[in-house]
Amino acid sequence: MDKMVLAADLGGTNLRMAVIGENGETRYRSRSSTPTSRRREDVVELLVSSARECIDAIRPLGAVSAFGIAAPAVLDHEAGRILVAPNLPELNDFSLAPAISGVLGLDVFLENDANAAAIGENWMGASNGYSSSICVTLGTGVGGGVIIDGKPLRGIDGTAGEIGHICVEPFGHPCGCGSLGCLEQYSSATAVVRIARELQSSFPDSRATAGLDTTSLEVYNAAVSGDALAREVFRKFGFYLGVALGGLINVLNPEVIVIGGGASESWDLFIEPLTSEIRKRAFKRPADRVSIVKAKLGDDAGILGVARLAFSSSNIGLAV
Ligand SMILES: [Zn+2]
Repeated sequence: MDKMVLAADLGGTNLRMAVIGENGETRYRSRSSTPTSRRREDVVELLVSSARECIDAIRPLGAVSAFGIAAPAVLDHEAGRILVAPNLPELNDFSLAPAISGVLGLDVFLENDANAAAIGENWMGASNGYSSSICVTLGTGVGGGVIIDGKPLRGIDGTAGEIGHICVEPFGHPCGCGSLGCLEQYSSATAVVRIARELQSSFPDSRATAGLDTTSLEVYNAAVSGDALAREVFRKFGFYLGVALGGLINVLNPEVIVIGGGASESWDLFIEPLTSEIRKRAFKRPADRVSIVKAKLGDDAGILGVARLAFSSSNIGLAV
């Protein structure tokens, strides 16, 4: 009988769930909208009903042995407890894993979504075969996950890896976390739009920010077609990401840095200023050693990461 686990990526908008086999193969998938009611019990009910749908669907193949959930939250992995979830505040201070485990009768493991993506890329994606890696997810915000000597770096409270909140500009733009000048205020899709607006007066001939509802995709398209303002936005994007990664390279000496997320599609526009900044700032040996690569797993990185955790945590023979 196949060994399988259940894996979920719980986002602010969608819940994606899959049954994953021990070689990372997807046996079944489901997708639903995250409840907008802001009621904790509705989120729990959706997780349970989706899990039961998946378990029923693969019953002819066998049973799942554990359940991993990736959540966009600061959380206590050991206790399975969400501490703060900015996009799902109904789950703040909630022991989600024990609640789901009690209903389903399965071991349930909870992991931060960016850590899960780092573990997923390490298992089946761009950092496979490397023991020390950093994974940066560039989306609406900037997520980070660090794996050192084969183990996810969690820190004493489980909050480690928040690369998006490294300060890159001490008196810079205010961040949702309460600090100033965090990386995600410069190298995210949200930042692309804001910085394009900020630069408008310096580039009066640019058409990149013609409308108030300009999107990051429009700024990207303008940059690709040569617009000077839009290109400057992505130069800054790469510069600030390079500042942060240069520091991380000096501290952690990783073998590989994986860059993923929707905003990483602008790779060709930011990679040169990024690597140039790393060369200027990081020590030569770790800077020469590290590879900077694109993520391979797209939206599946988090699901595969918690699947891997579920396999290893339920003692089926994989070690993270
Ligand atoms: Zn911040």
